[in-house]
Amino acid sequence: MKTKIVSYGTASPETASMEPTQQGETLGREPVRVTNRGGASAYVLLCDHASNWLPAAYGTLGLDVSDMSRHIAWDPGALPVAAAMAEALDAPLVESGVSRLLIDCNRPLDAHDLIPAVSEIFEIPGNAELSAYERKQRIALSWTPFHDAIEAVVEERLARRQPTVLVSIHSFTPIYRGKSRPWEIGIIHDDDRRVADPLVAALREVPGVTVGVNEPYSPADRVYFTLERHARSRGQPCAMIEIRNDEIADAAGQRKWADRLGGMFSRLEPLWSGAAGTGKPAA
Ligand SMILES: [Zn+2]
Repeated sequence: MKTKIVSYGTASPETASMEPTQQGETLGREPVRVTNRGGASAYVLLCDHASNWLPAAYGTLGLDVSDMSRHIAWDPGALPVAAAMAEALDAPLVESGVSRLLIDCNRPLDAHDLIPAVSEIFEIPGNAELSAYERKQRIALSWTPFHDAIEAVVEERLARRQPTVLVSIHSFTPIYRGKSRPWEIGIIHDDDRRVADPLVAALREVPGVTVGVNEPYSPADRVYFTLERHARSRGQPCAMIEIRNDEIADAAGQRKWADRLGGMFSRLEPLWSGAAGTGKPAA
Protein backbone atom coordinates (compact mmCIF):
# COMPACT_ATOMS: atom_id res chain seq x y z
CA MET A 1 0.00 0.00 0.00
CA LYS A 2 1.40 3.36 -0.99
CA THR A 3 1.55 6.19 1.43
CA LYS A 4 0.59 9.56 0.08
CA ILE A 5 3.18 12.10 1.05
CA VAL A 6 1.80 15.50 1.74
CA SER A 7 4.25 18.34 2.12
CA TYR A 8 3.40 21.48 3.98
CA GLY A 9 5.43 24.28 2.48
CA THR A 10 6.09 27.39 4.50
CA ALA A 11 5.56 29.84 1.65
CA SER A 12 2.73 28.75 -0.58
CA PRO A 13 1.56 31.17 -3.31
CA GLU A 14 -1.60 31.71 -1.25
CA THR A 15 0.23 32.96 1.82
CA ALA A 16 2.67 34.94 -0.31
CA SER A 17 -0.18 36.81 -1.98
CA MET A 18 -1.58 37.72 1.42
CA GLU A 19 1.49 39.79 2.29
CA PRO A 20 0.29 43.36 2.67
CA THR A 21 1.28 45.69 -0.11
CA GLN A 22 2.37 49.22 0.61
CA GLN A 23 -1.18 50.40 -0.01
CA GLY A 24 -2.47 47.59 2.20
CA GLU A 25 -0.24 48.76 5.04
CA THR A 26 -1.48 52.32 4.72
CA LEU A 27 -5.09 51.22 4.64
CA GLY A 28 -4.93 48.38 7.15
CA ARG A 29 -6.30 46.04 4.48
CA GLU A 30 -6.07 45.33 0.77
CA PRO A 31 -7.76 47.97 -1.40
CA VAL A 32 -8.62 45.38 -4.03
CA ARG A 33 -9.10 41.64 -3.99
CA VAL A 34 -8.73 39.27 -6.90
CA THR A 35 -10.28 35.82 -6.50
CA ASN A 36 -9.85 32.85 -8.83
CA ARG A 37 -7.43 34.81 -11.01
CA GLY A 38 -6.67 31.96 -13.41
CA GLY A 39 -10.33 30.91 -13.85
CA ALA A 40 -11.14 29.08 -17.09
CA SER A 41 -14.41 30.94 -17.76
CA ALA A 42 -14.75 33.50 -20.56
CA TYR A 43 -16.18 35.90 -17.98
CA VAL A 44 -14.32 38.27 -15.70
CA LEU A 45 -16.62 39.54 -12.96
CA LEU A 46 -16.11 42.97 -11.43
CA CYS A 47 -17.58 44.45 -8.28
CA ASP A 48 -16.75 48.16 -8.03
CA HIS A 49 -18.96 48.82 -5.01
CA ALA A 50 -18.39 45.58 -3.11
CA SER A 51 -17.45 47.10 0.25
CA ASN A 52 -18.60 49.77 2.70
CA TRP A 53 -15.25 49.75 4.50
CA LEU A 54 -13.37 52.98 5.18
CA PRO A 55 -9.80 53.32 6.45
CA ALA A 56 -9.78 54.18 10.20
CA ALA A 57 -8.24 57.60 9.57
CA TYR A 58 -11.39 58.67 7.72
CA GLY A 59 -13.83 57.64 10.46
CA THR A 60 -17.27 57.66 8.88
CA LEU A 61 -16.55 60.84 6.86
CA GLY A 62 -18.90 62.63 9.25
CA LEU A 63 -21.88 60.37 8.53
CA ASP A 64 -23.84 58.50 11.18
CA VAL A 65 -22.53 54.97 11.60
CA SER A 66 -25.96 53.70 10.48
CA ASP A 67 -25.55 55.51 7.13
CA MET A 68 -22.54 53.33 6.39
CA SER A 69 -24.86 50.36 5.79
CA ARG A 70 -26.94 52.31 3.24
CA HIS A 71 -26.54 52.07 -0.50
CA ILE A 72 -24.69 55.39 -0.56
CA ALA A 73 -21.66 53.60 0.93
CA TRP A 74 -21.72 50.45 -1.25
CA ASP A 75 -23.91 48.08 -3.27
CA PRO A 76 -25.54 45.84 -0.63
CA GLY A 77 -25.78 42.21 -1.76
CA ALA A 78 -23.72 42.67 -4.93
CA LEU A 79 -20.56 40.97 -3.69
CA PRO A 80 -22.17 37.72 -2.44
CA VAL A 81 -23.95 37.37 -5.80
CA ALA A 82 -20.75 38.08 -7.75
CA ALA A 83 -18.72 35.72 -5.56
CA ALA A 84 -21.20 32.86 -5.95
CA MET A 85 -21.31 33.39 -9.73
CA ALA A 86 -17.50 33.48 -9.91
CA GLU A 87 -17.31 30.18 -8.10
CA ALA A 88 -20.02 28.50 -10.18
CA LEU A 89 -18.60 29.74 -13.50
CA ASP A 90 -14.91 29.34 -12.58
CA ALA A 91 -14.50 33.04 -13.34
CA PRO A 92 -12.08 35.55 -11.85
CA LEU A 93 -13.60 38.23 -9.64
CA VAL A 94 -12.04 41.64 -9.00
CA GLU A 95 -13.64 43.52 -6.11
CA SER A 96 -12.87 46.84 -4.50
CA GLY A 97 -12.25 46.65 -0.76
CA VAL A 98 -13.01 50.31 -0.04
CA SER A 99 -16.29 52.23 0.15
CA ARG A 100 -17.37 54.33 -2.84
CA LEU A 101 -17.70 57.22 -0.37
CA LEU A 102 -13.91 57.52 -0.19
CA ILE A 103 -13.70 57.58 -3.99
CA ASP A 104 -15.94 55.99 -6.60
CA CYS A 105 -13.92 53.51 -8.66
CA ASN A 106 -16.65 53.46 -11.33
CA ARG A 107 -16.14 57.10 -12.27
CA PRO A 108 -13.56 58.81 -14.46
CA LEU A 109 -11.14 61.04 -12.57
CA ASP A 110 -12.82 64.17 -13.95
CA ALA A 111 -16.35 63.16 -12.85
CA HIS A 112 -18.14 65.60 -10.54
CA ASP A 113 -19.23 62.68 -8.34
CA LEU A 114 -15.84 60.93 -8.16
CA ILE A 115 -15.69 61.91 -4.46
CA PRO A 116 -19.27 62.94 -3.76
CA ALA A 117 -19.90 65.72 -1.25
CA VAL A 118 -23.60 64.86 -1.55
CA SER A 119 -24.95 61.39 -2.35
CA GLU A 120 -28.68 61.24 -3.09
CA ILE A 121 -29.96 63.33 -0.14
CA PHE A 122 -27.03 62.69 2.19
CA GLU A 123 -24.36 65.29 2.75
CA ILE A 124 -20.94 63.78 3.31
CA PRO A 125 -19.05 66.27 5.47
CA GLY A 126 -15.70 64.48 5.10
CA ASN A 127 -15.84 64.96 1.33
CA ALA A 128 -16.48 68.71 1.31
CA GLU A 129 -13.77 71.02 -0.04
CA LEU A 130 -11.03 68.47 -0.48
CA SER A 131 -7.49 69.61 -1.09
CA ALA A 132 -5.67 68.49 -4.22
CA TYR A 133 -3.37 66.47 -1.96
CA GLU A 134 -6.24 64.62 -0.29
CA ARG A 135 -7.77 63.88 -3.68
CA LYS A 136 -4.49 62.39 -4.88
CA GLN A 137 -4.24 60.31 -1.72
CA ARG A 138 -7.64 58.79 -2.31
CA ILE A 139 -6.92 58.04 -5.95
CA ALA A 140 -3.74 56.24 -4.86
CA LEU A 141 -5.43 54.39 -1.97
CA SER A 142 -8.36 52.91 -3.85
CA TRP A 143 -9.02 53.95 -7.45
CA THR A 144 -5.60 53.15 -8.93
CA PRO A 145 -5.15 49.74 -7.25
CA PHE A 146 -8.62 48.66 -8.40
CA HIS A 147 -8.04 49.63 -12.02
CA ASP A 148 -4.48 48.28 -12.04
CA ALA A 149 -5.77 44.93 -10.82
CA ILE A 150 -8.41 44.70 -13.57
CA GLU A 151 -5.85 45.79 -16.14
CA ALA A 152 -3.45 43.06 -15.07
CA VAL A 153 -6.11 40.32 -15.12
CA VAL A 154 -7.39 41.35 -18.56
CA GLU A 155 -3.92 41.72 -20.07
CA GLU A 156 -2.73 38.33 -18.88
CA ARG A 157 -5.85 36.65 -20.25
CA LEU A 158 -5.57 38.32 -23.65
CA ALA A 159 -1.86 37.53 -23.77
CA ARG A 160 -2.77 33.84 -23.56
CA ARG A 161 -5.65 34.34 -26.04
CA GLN A 162 -8.34 33.49 -23.50
CA PRO A 163 -11.84 34.70 -24.41
CA THR A 164 -12.57 37.64 -22.10
CA VAL A 165 -15.98 39.14 -21.41
CA LEU A 166 -16.24 41.73 -18.65
CA VAL A 167 -19.36 41.87 -16.51
CA SER A 168 -19.78 44.20 -13.55
CA ILE A 169 -22.27 43.42 -10.80
CA HIS A 170 -23.99 46.25 -8.93
CA SER A 171 -27.12 46.77 -6.85
CA PHE A 172 -29.55 49.67 -6.66
CA THR A 173 -31.95 50.99 -4.07
CA PRO A 174 -35.70 50.20 -4.49
CA ILE A 175 -36.69 53.82 -3.86
CA TYR A 176 -34.64 56.73 -5.11
CA ARG A 177 -35.54 60.32 -4.33
CA GLY A 178 -39.03 59.15 -3.31
CA LYS A 179 -39.71 57.18 -6.51
CA SER A 180 -40.17 53.40 -6.60
CA ARG A 181 -38.21 51.50 -9.17
CA PRO A 182 -40.16 48.65 -10.79
CA TRP A 183 -37.28 46.60 -12.21
CA GLU A 184 -35.86 43.66 -10.24
CA ILE A 185 -32.83 43.80 -12.51
CA GLY A 186 -31.38 46.21 -15.04
CA ILE A 187 -28.92 45.50 -17.84
CA ILE A 188 -26.80 48.47 -18.86
CA HIS A 189 -25.05 48.61 -22.21
CA ASP A 190 -23.82 51.00 -24.87
CA ASP A 191 -23.58 50.40 -28.65
CA ASP A 192 -21.98 47.02 -28.08
CA ARG A 193 -24.99 44.84 -27.29
CA ARG A 194 -23.34 41.44 -27.68
CA VAL A 195 -23.73 40.54 -24.00
CA ALA A 196 -26.79 42.64 -23.18
CA ASP A 197 -29.13 41.42 -25.92
CA PRO A 198 -29.04 37.67 -25.20
CA LEU A 199 -29.02 38.33 -21.46
CA VAL A 200 -32.08 40.59 -21.62
CA ALA A 201 -33.84 37.99 -23.81
CA ALA A 202 -33.10 35.27 -21.24
CA LEU A 203 -34.25 37.43 -18.33
CA ARG A 204 -37.50 38.27 -20.11
CA GLU A 205 -38.32 34.54 -20.07
CA VAL A 206 -38.32 34.53 -16.27
CA PRO A 207 -41.89 34.81 -14.93
CA GLY A 208 -42.47 37.75 -12.62
CA VAL A 209 -39.25 39.56 -13.48
CA THR A 210 -39.36 43.07 -14.94
CA VAL A 211 -36.11 43.78 -16.74
CA GLY A 212 -34.81 47.32 -17.08
CA VAL A 213 -32.77 48.03 -20.19
CA ASN A 214 -30.44 50.91 -19.47
CA GLU A 215 -32.51 51.37 -16.29
CA PRO A 216 -32.17 52.57 -13.59
CA TYR A 217 -28.98 54.00 -15.13
CA SER A 218 -27.42 54.20 -18.54
CA PRO A 219 -23.94 54.97 -19.86
CA ALA A 220 -25.12 58.60 -20.22
CA ASP A 221 -25.00 58.75 -16.39
CA ARG A 222 -21.28 57.91 -16.61
CA VAL A 223 -21.80 54.66 -14.75
CA TYR A 224 -20.17 52.65 -17.54
CA PHE A 225 -16.69 53.90 -16.82
CA THR A 226 -15.00 50.71 -15.57
CA LEU A 227 -16.27 48.79 -18.60
CA GLU A 228 -15.34 51.57 -21.02
CA ARG A 229 -11.85 51.66 -19.59
CA HIS A 230 -11.13 47.93 -19.58
CA ALA A 231 -13.46 46.28 -22.11
CA ARG A 232 -14.67 48.83 -24.66
CA SER A 233 -11.15 50.26 -25.12
CA ARG A 234 -10.05 46.80 -26.27
CA GLY A 235 -13.16 45.75 -28.18
CA GLN A 236 -14.00 43.06 -25.60
CA PRO A 237 -17.68 42.28 -24.98
CA CYS A 238 -19.13 43.61 -21.73
CA ALA A 239 -22.27 44.55 -19.83
CA MET A 240 -23.25 45.93 -16.46
CA ILE A 241 -25.80 44.24 -14.21
CA GLU A 242 -27.81 46.16 -11.63
CA ILE A 243 -29.91 44.11 -9.20
CA ARG A 244 -32.47 45.83 -6.97
CA ASN A 245 -31.03 45.42 -3.50
CA ASP A 246 -34.23 44.18 -1.79
CA GLU A 247 -33.96 41.13 -4.08
CA ILE A 248 -30.54 40.24 -2.68
CA ALA A 249 -30.85 41.37 0.92
CA ASP A 250 -30.43 37.87 2.35
CA ALA A 251 -28.55 34.68 1.53
CA ALA A 252 -31.58 33.05 -0.12
CA GLY A 253 -32.10 35.99 -2.50
CA GLN A 254 -28.40 36.17 -3.28
CA ARG A 255 -28.34 32.46 -4.05
CA LYS A 256 -31.45 32.72 -6.25
CA TRP A 257 -29.98 35.48 -8.40
CA ALA A 258 -26.50 33.96 -8.50
CA ASP A 259 -27.96 30.65 -9.69
CA ARG A 260 -30.25 32.33 -12.20
CA LEU A 261 -27.60 34.59 -13.70
CA GLY A 262 -24.89 31.96 -13.47
CA GLY A 263 -27.10 29.54 -15.43
CA MET A 264 -27.76 32.14 -18.13
CA PHE A 265 -24.09 33.09 -18.38
CA SER A 266 -23.10 29.50 -18.65
CA ARG A 267 -25.61 28.85 -21.49
CA LEU A 268 -24.34 31.95 -23.33
CA GLU A 269 -20.67 31.06 -22.91
CA PRO A 270 -20.30 29.33 -26.34
CA LEU A 271 -20.93 32.76 -27.92
CA TRP A 272 -17.57 33.99 -26.65
CA SER A 273 -15.15 31.53 -28.25
CA GLY A 274 -13.99 34.29 -30.60
CA ALA A 275 -13.61 36.95 -27.91
CA ALA A 276 -9.94 36.33 -27.22
CA GLY A 277 -8.73 39.72 -28.41
CA THR A 278 -5.95 40.34 -30.88
CA GLY A 279 -3.13 39.00 -28.73
CA LYS A 280 -1.56 42.47 -28.92
CA PRO A 281 -1.47 44.77 -25.91
CA ALA A 282 -4.11 47.50 -25.96
CA ALA A 283 -2.91 50.80 -27.41
ZN1 LIG B 1 -22.65 50.13 -8.02
